[in-house]
Amino acid sequence: MKQLQDAIIERGTVLSTGVLKVDQFLNHQVDTHLMTEIGFEFARLFRDEKVTKVITIESSGIAPSFMCAHQLQTPLIFARKKKSVTMNQANVYSSRVYSFTKQEYSEVTVSKDLIKEGDRVLLIDDFLANGEAASGLINIVEQAGASVVGVGIVIEKSFQNGRKKLEERGLRIESLARIASLEQSTVTFVEEPVAQNN
Ligand code: 5GP
Repeated sequence: MKQLQDAIIERGTVLSTGVLKVDQFLNHQVDTHLMTEIGFEFARLFRDEKVTKVITIESSGIAPSFMCAHQLQTPLIFARKKKSVTMNQANVYSSRVYSFTKQEYSEVTVSKDLIKEGDRVLLIDDFLANGEAASGLINIVEQAGASVVGVGIVIEKSFQNGRKKLEERGLRIESLARIASLEQSTVTFVEEPVAQNN
């Protein structure tokens, strides 16, 4: 997605060979116009998957998934990282997730009232690194007897092994920007094959 690639180049900061900071438009300040376009694109890509729920993880997954769920006319569920007094802890699905950026484990939870057996769930997240967050969410969806029909990622770091892990589970992954490398403080995108019109 050209607009997203431009934002990454113009407003992103390479913090190290493994970490990209996108606080200017995605993780802290939110570019609502760009998020809307991202939501439309995810909705277009997964329109035929008969999605019944969109799931993400708080907090950075919420902005890019909101408009997708709106377009697909489904609820948006965000898994919680912190326990809430409003949630009955006996009535939650939970999964232990290792955070790439915080370098610690957290218990991610979703109320059992929100995902039902037979739901067709689309998973959206801001980044894909080693696939920990996505695997935790998939685990929660499976506990509910529902199925993940696809994974939509805003920024995939293709030099880490998240895509491989998810593909091995037979999942369809659509990433709107795929980064091949962050070496030398430079963002290099994966070269996508150009479609041939014969
Ligand atoms: P994974 O679980 O796939 O290892 O990492 C994905 C999660 O870690 C995302 O939810 C995202 O919040 C965070 N993350 C991973 N890599 C980066 C990065 O380079 N920059 C930022 N800002 N967050 C990242």
